[in-house]
Amino acid sequence: MENVVIIGSGCAGLTAAIYAARANLKPLVIDGHEPGGQLSLTTHVENFPGFPDGILGPELIENMRKQAEKFGAQFKAGTVSEVDLTGRPFKVKSGDKTYETRTLIVAAGATARLLGLQGEKELIGKGVSTCATCDGYFFRGKPIAVVGGGDSAMEEANFLSRYATKVYLIHRREEFRASKIMIDRAKANPKVEFLVPYTVDTINAPKDLVTGLHLLQTKTGEMKTVDVDGVFVAIGHEPNSTVFRGKLDMDENGYLLANHGSVTKVPGVFVAGDVQDHRYRQAVTAAGSGCMAAIDAEKFLEEHKD
Ligand code: NAP
Repeated sequence: MENVVIIGSGCAGLTAAIYAARANLKPLVIDGHEPGGQLSLTTHVENFPGFPDGILGPELIENMRKQAEKFGAQFKAGTVSEVDLTGRPFKVKSGDKTYETRTLIVAAGATARLLGLQGEKELIGKGVSTCATCDGYFFRGKPIAVVGGGDSAMEEANFLSRYATKVYLIHRREEFRASKIMIDRAKANPKVEFLVPYTVDTINAPKDLVTGLHLLQTKTGEMKTVDVDGVFVAIGHEPNSTVFRGKLDMDENGYLLANHGSVTKVPGVFVAGDVQDHRYRQAVTAAGSGCMAAIDAEKFLEEHKD
Protein backbone atom coordinates (compact mmCIF):
# COMPACT_ATOMS: atom_id res chain seq x y z
CA MET A 1 0.00 0.00 0.00
CA GLU A 2 1.41 3.38 -1.05
CA ASN A 3 0.92 6.62 0.85
CA VAL A 4 1.00 8.75 -2.30
CA VAL A 5 0.94 7.79 -5.95
CA ILE A 6 1.79 10.64 -8.29
CA ILE A 7 0.67 10.32 -11.90
CA GLY A 8 3.03 12.29 -14.15
CA SER A 9 6.70 13.20 -14.04
CA GLY A 10 6.73 16.77 -15.36
CA CYS A 11 7.38 19.84 -13.29
CA ALA A 12 4.21 19.43 -11.23
CA GLY A 13 4.62 15.71 -10.53
CA LEU A 14 8.31 16.00 -9.65
CA THR A 15 7.77 18.95 -7.33
CA ALA A 16 4.98 17.02 -5.62
CA ALA A 17 7.42 14.09 -5.35
CA ILE A 18 10.12 16.27 -3.74
CA TYR A 19 7.69 17.60 -1.14
CA ALA A 20 6.04 14.25 -0.43
CA ALA A 21 9.43 12.51 -0.20
CA ARG A 22 10.75 15.12 2.21
CA ALA A 23 7.63 14.48 4.30
CA ASN A 24 8.78 10.84 4.50
CA LEU A 25 5.84 9.57 2.47
CA LYS A 26 7.96 7.60 -0.04
CA PRO A 27 5.86 8.67 -3.02
CA LEU A 28 5.58 6.47 -6.08
CA VAL A 29 5.72 8.40 -9.35
CA ILE A 30 4.31 6.85 -12.51
CA ASP A 31 6.17 8.56 -15.34
CA GLY A 32 3.44 8.78 -17.98
CA HIS A 33 3.75 8.68 -21.75
CA GLU A 34 6.11 11.66 -21.92
CA PRO A 35 8.56 11.30 -19.02
CA GLY A 36 9.60 14.79 -17.91
CA GLY A 37 6.54 16.36 -19.51
CA GLN A 38 6.62 19.38 -21.79
CA LEU A 39 9.92 20.69 -20.36
CA SER A 40 11.67 17.66 -21.75
CA LEU A 41 10.65 18.89 -25.22
CA THR A 42 12.10 22.39 -24.84
CA THR A 43 15.63 23.73 -25.04
CA HIS A 44 16.55 26.85 -23.07
CA VAL A 45 14.39 27.86 -20.14
CA GLU A 46 15.15 31.42 -19.12
CA ASN A 47 12.21 32.20 -16.87
CA PHE A 48 12.49 29.56 -14.16
CA PRO A 49 13.61 31.50 -11.08
CA GLY A 50 17.07 30.70 -9.78
CA PHE A 51 18.89 30.25 -13.09
CA PRO A 52 20.18 33.66 -14.19
CA ASP A 53 21.87 32.15 -17.26
CA GLY A 54 18.91 29.90 -18.06
CA ILE A 55 18.90 26.12 -18.02
CA LEU A 56 18.03 23.46 -20.57
CA GLY A 57 14.52 22.06 -20.04
CA PRO A 58 15.68 18.41 -19.92
CA GLU A 59 18.43 19.35 -17.44
CA LEU A 60 15.97 21.17 -15.19
CA ILE A 61 13.71 18.12 -15.20
CA GLU A 62 16.62 15.75 -14.56
CA ASN A 63 17.68 17.88 -11.57
CA MET A 64 14.15 17.76 -10.14
CA ARG A 65 14.03 14.02 -10.59
CA LYS A 66 17.37 13.52 -8.83
CA GLN A 67 16.22 15.80 -6.03
CA ALA A 68 13.05 13.71 -5.55
CA GLU A 69 15.04 10.44 -5.67
CA LYS A 70 17.50 11.75 -3.10
CA PHE A 71 14.68 12.04 -0.58
CA GLY A 72 13.21 8.62 -1.35
CA ALA A 73 10.77 9.02 -4.24
CA GLN A 74 10.40 5.94 -6.41
CA PHE A 75 9.73 5.97 -10.14
CA LYS A 76 7.95 3.53 -12.42
CA ALA A 77 7.94 3.81 -16.18
CA GLY A 78 4.57 3.45 -17.88
CA THR A 79 1.19 5.04 -18.35
CA VAL A 80 -1.95 4.70 -16.29
CA SER A 81 -4.72 2.84 -18.08
CA GLU A 82 -7.37 2.74 -15.36
CA VAL A 83 -8.14 4.20 -11.94
CA ASP A 84 -10.69 3.18 -9.34
CA LEU A 85 -11.53 6.13 -7.10
CA THR A 86 -14.76 4.70 -5.67
CA GLY A 87 -13.21 4.00 -2.27
CA ARG A 88 -9.94 4.21 -0.38
CA PRO A 89 -7.42 2.78 -0.98
CA PHE A 90 -7.57 4.02 -4.57
CA LYS A 91 -6.47 1.63 -7.29
CA VAL A 92 -4.20 2.73 -10.12
CA LYS A 93 -3.49 0.35 -12.99
CA SER A 94 -0.32 0.73 -15.04
CA GLY A 95 0.83 -2.07 -17.33
CA ASP A 96 0.09 -5.36 -15.62
CA LYS A 97 0.39 -3.85 -12.13
CA THR A 98 -2.31 -2.35 -9.93
CA TYR A 99 -1.12 -0.03 -7.18
CA GLU A 100 -3.14 0.67 -4.07
CA THR A 101 -2.69 4.08 -2.51
CA ARG A 102 -4.08 6.16 0.34
CA THR A 103 -3.80 9.38 -1.66
CA LEU A 104 -3.41 10.20 -5.33
CA ILE A 105 -1.89 13.24 -7.01
CA VAL A 106 -2.87 13.68 -10.65
CA ALA A 107 -0.16 15.66 -12.44
CA ALA A 108 -0.64 14.08 -15.85
CA GLY A 109 -0.09 17.35 -17.75
CA ALA A 110 -1.38 18.49 -21.09
CA THR A 111 -0.03 17.85 -24.54
CA ALA A 112 0.34 20.72 -26.98
CA ARG A 113 -1.27 19.81 -30.29
CA LEU A 114 1.12 19.75 -33.21
CA LEU A 115 0.34 20.10 -36.91
CA GLY A 116 1.59 16.61 -37.68
CA LEU A 117 4.15 17.75 -40.26
CA GLN A 118 7.30 15.86 -41.05
CA GLY A 119 10.19 16.94 -38.80
CA GLU A 120 7.97 19.23 -36.72
CA LYS A 121 8.54 17.49 -33.39
CA GLU A 122 12.29 17.19 -33.97
CA LEU A 123 12.46 20.94 -34.69
CA ILE A 124 11.04 21.91 -31.30
CA GLY A 125 13.70 24.16 -29.79
CA LYS A 126 15.16 24.73 -33.26
CA GLY A 127 12.54 27.19 -34.46
CA VAL A 128 9.33 25.31 -33.69
CA SER A 129 7.70 26.21 -30.38
CA THR A 130 4.42 25.61 -28.60
CA CYS A 131 4.96 28.29 -25.95
CA ALA A 132 5.27 31.99 -26.78
CA THR A 133 5.90 33.02 -23.17
CA CYS A 134 8.79 30.56 -22.97
CA ASP A 135 10.46 31.09 -26.32
CA GLY A 136 9.41 34.50 -27.67
CA TYR A 137 12.53 36.20 -26.39
CA PHE A 138 14.74 34.01 -28.60
CA PHE A 139 13.21 35.63 -31.70
CA ARG A 140 14.19 39.23 -31.02
CA GLY A 141 14.59 41.11 -34.29
CA LYS A 142 13.43 38.14 -36.40
CA PRO A 143 10.33 37.34 -38.47
CA ILE A 144 8.13 34.55 -37.14
CA ALA A 145 4.79 32.84 -37.75
CA VAL A 146 1.96 31.81 -35.45
CA VAL A 147 -0.40 29.04 -36.56
CA GLY A 148 -3.97 28.89 -35.24
CA GLY A 149 -7.22 30.79 -35.15
CA GLY A 150 -8.19 30.65 -31.47
CA ASP A 151 -7.59 33.03 -28.59
CA SER A 152 -4.14 31.52 -27.96
CA ALA A 153 -3.00 32.28 -31.49
CA MET A 154 -4.24 35.90 -31.27
CA GLU A 155 -2.71 36.39 -27.85
CA GLU A 156 0.59 34.88 -28.91
CA ALA A 157 0.74 36.93 -32.12
CA ASN A 158 0.34 40.13 -30.10
CA PHE A 159 2.77 39.02 -27.42
CA LEU A 160 5.39 37.94 -29.96
CA SER A 161 5.16 41.24 -31.83
CA ARG A 162 7.11 42.76 -28.92
CA TYR A 163 10.16 40.83 -30.07
CA ALA A 164 9.67 39.89 -33.69
CA THR A 165 10.08 42.20 -36.66
CA LYS A 166 7.04 40.60 -38.27
CA VAL A 167 4.40 38.05 -37.22
CA TYR A 168 2.48 36.05 -39.83
CA LEU A 169 -0.77 34.74 -38.38
CA ILE A 170 -1.61 31.62 -40.37
CA HIS A 171 -5.05 30.05 -40.06
CA ARG A 172 -6.72 27.33 -42.09
CA ARG A 173 -10.15 29.04 -42.30
CA GLU A 174 -11.44 32.56 -42.91
CA GLU A 175 -13.54 32.33 -39.75
CA PHE A 176 -11.90 32.39 -36.36
CA ARG A 177 -12.62 30.62 -33.14
CA ALA A 178 -11.04 33.48 -31.22
CA SER A 179 -13.15 36.14 -29.54
CA LYS A 180 -13.76 39.34 -31.48
CA ILE A 181 -11.80 41.53 -29.14
CA MET A 182 -8.71 39.32 -29.49
CA ILE A 183 -9.02 39.27 -33.29
CA ASP A 184 -9.46 43.05 -33.42
CA ARG A 185 -6.38 43.55 -31.27
CA ALA A 186 -4.25 41.33 -33.50
CA LYS A 187 -5.63 42.98 -36.66
CA ALA A 188 -4.84 46.44 -35.29
CA ASN A 189 -1.25 45.41 -34.64
CA PRO A 190 0.90 46.76 -37.51
CA LYS A 191 3.44 43.94 -37.13
CA VAL A 192 0.85 41.17 -37.52
CA GLU A 193 -0.10 40.04 -41.04
CA PHE A 194 -3.01 37.61 -41.38
CA LEU A 195 -2.60 34.81 -43.93
CA VAL A 196 -5.97 33.03 -44.32
CA PRO A 197 -7.09 30.52 -45.39
CA TYR A 198 -3.66 28.91 -45.42
CA THR A 199 -2.28 25.67 -44.07
CA VAL A 200 1.37 24.89 -43.50
CA ASP A 201 2.51 22.41 -46.09
CA THR A 202 6.19 22.12 -45.13
CA ILE A 203 8.56 23.56 -42.60
CA ASN A 204 11.84 24.55 -44.25
CA ALA A 205 14.83 23.76 -42.07
CA PRO A 206 17.75 22.89 -44.33
CA LYS A 207 20.32 22.96 -41.53
CA ASP A 208 18.07 21.74 -38.75
CA LEU A 209 16.99 25.32 -38.00
CA VAL A 210 13.73 26.79 -39.26
CA THR A 211 14.19 29.22 -42.15
CA GLY A 212 10.68 29.40 -43.59
CA LEU A 213 7.32 27.83 -44.29
CA HIS A 214 5.66 26.57 -47.45
CA LEU A 215 2.00 27.48 -47.28
CA LEU A 216 -1.01 26.27 -49.20
CA GLN A 217 -3.94 28.61 -49.91
CA THR A 218 -6.76 26.18 -49.28
CA LYS A 219 -9.26 27.83 -51.68
CA THR A 220 -7.08 28.56 -54.70
CA GLY A 221 -4.40 25.90 -54.24
CA GLU A 222 -1.73 28.58 -54.61
CA MET A 223 1.56 27.89 -52.83
CA LYS A 224 3.44 30.61 -51.00
CA THR A 225 6.69 30.74 -49.05
CA VAL A 226 7.29 32.95 -46.03
CA ASP A 227 10.77 33.43 -44.59
CA VAL A 228 10.59 33.04 -40.82
CA ASP A 229 13.03 31.98 -38.13
CA GLY A 230 10.36 30.58 -35.88
CA VAL A 231 6.90 29.04 -35.98
CA PHE A 232 4.65 29.02 -32.94
CA VAL A 233 2.06 26.28 -33.13
CA ALA A 234 -0.94 27.58 -31.16
CA ILE A 235 -3.67 25.11 -32.08
CA GLY A 236 -4.65 24.13 -28.55
CA HIS A 237 -3.69 21.61 -25.89
CA GLU A 238 -5.15 18.29 -24.84
CA PRO A 239 -5.23 17.69 -21.10
CA ASN A 240 -4.19 14.12 -20.33
CA SER A 241 -7.34 13.40 -18.37
CA THR A 242 -9.12 10.67 -20.32
CA VAL A 243 -8.82 8.02 -17.59
CA PHE A 244 -10.57 10.37 -15.14
CA ARG A 245 -13.65 10.91 -17.28
CA GLY A 246 -16.74 10.39 -15.09
CA LYS A 247 -14.52 10.02 -12.00
CA LEU A 248 -13.31 13.57 -11.39
CA ASP A 249 -14.98 16.85 -12.35
CA MET A 250 -13.66 18.40 -15.53
CA ASP A 251 -14.58 21.33 -17.74
CA GLU A 252 -15.91 20.94 -21.29
CA ASN A 253 -12.33 20.75 -22.64
CA GLY A 254 -11.29 17.98 -20.26
CA TYR A 255 -9.30 20.09 -17.78
CA LEU A 256 -9.70 18.73 -14.25
CA LEU A 257 -11.39 21.05 -11.77
CA ALA A 258 -9.92 21.77 -8.37
CA ASN A 259 -11.07 23.73 -5.34
CA HIS A 260 -8.94 25.45 -2.74
CA GLY A 261 -5.69 24.72 -4.51
CA SER A 262 -5.50 21.06 -5.43
CA VAL A 263 -8.58 19.53 -3.82
CA THR A 264 -10.98 17.49 -5.98
CA LYS A 265 -14.46 16.19 -5.25
CA VAL A 266 -12.92 12.85 -4.21
CA PRO A 267 -11.34 13.20 -0.75
CA GLY A 268 -7.71 12.09 -0.99
CA VAL A 269 -7.33 12.84 -4.72
CA PHE A 270 -5.44 16.01 -5.60
CA VAL A 271 -4.55 17.64 -8.91
CA ALA A 272 -1.59 19.72 -10.03
CA GLY A 273 -0.04 21.25 -13.12
CA ASP A 274 -1.32 21.62 -16.65
CA VAL A 275 -3.95 18.87 -16.41
CA GLN A 276 -5.92 21.43 -14.35
CA ASP A 277 -4.53 24.68 -15.78
CA HIS A 278 -5.21 26.02 -19.26
CA ARG A 279 -4.38 29.58 -18.33
CA TYR A 280 -0.85 29.89 -16.95
CA ARG A 281 0.84 26.69 -18.23
CA GLN A 282 4.26 27.68 -16.91
CA ALA A 283 6.93 25.45 -15.39
CA VAL A 284 6.98 27.58 -12.27
CA THR A 285 3.19 27.56 -11.82
CA ALA A 286 3.11 23.79 -12.39
CA ALA A 287 5.86 23.37 -9.79
CA GLY A 288 3.93 25.59 -7.36
CA SER A 289 0.76 23.58 -7.77
CA GLY A 290 2.71 20.32 -7.34
CA CYS A 291 3.94 21.65 -4.01
CA MET A 292 0.37 22.51 -3.01
CA ALA A 293 -0.90 19.05 -3.93
CA ALA A 294 1.82 17.33 -1.88
CA ILE A 295 1.09 19.50 1.17
CA ASP A 296 -2.63 18.80 0.76
CA ALA A 297 -1.95 15.03 0.51
CA GLU A 298 0.27 15.15 3.58
CA LYS A 299 -2.38 17.00 5.60
CA PHE A 300 -5.04 14.55 4.38
CA LEU A 301 -2.94 11.59 5.54
CA GLU A 302 -2.42 13.30 8.91
CA GLU A 303 -6.17 13.72 9.30
CA HIS A 304 -7.05 10.19 8.09
CA LYS A 305 -4.77 7.82 9.95
CA ASP A 306 -7.09 4.89 9.39
P1 NAP B 1 -8.86 26.57 -29.55
O1 NAP B 1 -9.84 27.61 -29.15
O2 NAP B 1 -9.28 25.15 -29.53
O3 NAP B 1 -8.40 26.96 -31.04
C1 NAP B 1 -7.55 26.13 -31.72
C2 NAP B 1 -7.32 26.72 -33.11
O4 NAP B 1 -6.36 25.93 -33.78
C3 NAP B 1 -8.57 26.76 -33.98
O5 NAP B 1 -8.59 27.96 -34.70
C4 NAP B 1 -8.39 25.57 -34.89
O6 NAP B 1 -8.89 25.77 -36.19
C5 NAP B 1 -6.89 25.50 -35.02
N1 NAP B 1 -6.46 24.13 -35.27
C6 NAP B 1 -6.72 23.02 -34.53
N2 NAP B 1 -6.12 21.94 -35.06
C7 NAP B 1 -5.46 22.40 -36.17
C8 NAP B 1 -4.66 21.76 -37.12
N3 NAP B 1 -4.39 20.45 -37.07
N4 NAP B 1 -4.16 22.52 -38.13
C9 NAP B 1 -4.41 23.84 -38.21
N5 NAP B 1 -5.16 24.50 -37.31
C10 NAP B 1 -5.67 23.78 -36.30
O7 NAP B 1 -7.51 26.62 -28.68
P2 NAP B 1 -6.82 27.86 -27.94
O8 NAP B 1 -6.72 29.03 -28.82
O9 NAP B 1 -5.57 27.30 -27.34
O10 NAP B 1 -7.83 28.18 -26.76
C11 NAP B 1 -8.20 27.16 -25.80
C12 NAP B 1 -9.14 27.79 -24.74
O11 NAP B 1 -8.42 28.74 -23.96
C13 NAP B 1 -10.30 28.55 -25.39
O12 NAP B 1 -11.43 28.38 -24.59
C14 NAP B 1 -9.85 29.98 -25.34
O13 NAP B 1 -10.91 30.92 -25.32
C15 NAP B 1 -9.05 30.02 -24.05
N6 NAP B 1 -8.02 31.08 -24.09
C16 NAP B 1 -8.37 32.33 -23.65
C17 NAP B 1 -7.46 33.37 -23.70
C18 NAP B 1 -7.85 34.71 -23.20
O14 NAP B 1 -9.02 34.94 -23.02
N7 NAP B 1 -6.92 35.61 -22.95
C19 NAP B 1 -6.19 33.16 -24.23
C20 NAP B 1 -5.86 31.90 -24.69
C21 NAP B 1 -6.79 30.86 -24.63
P3 NAP B 1 -10.47 25.60 -36.49
O15 NAP B 1 -11.13 26.79 -35.88
O16 NAP B 1 -10.52 25.59 -37.99
O17 NAP B 1 -10.89 24.30 -35.87
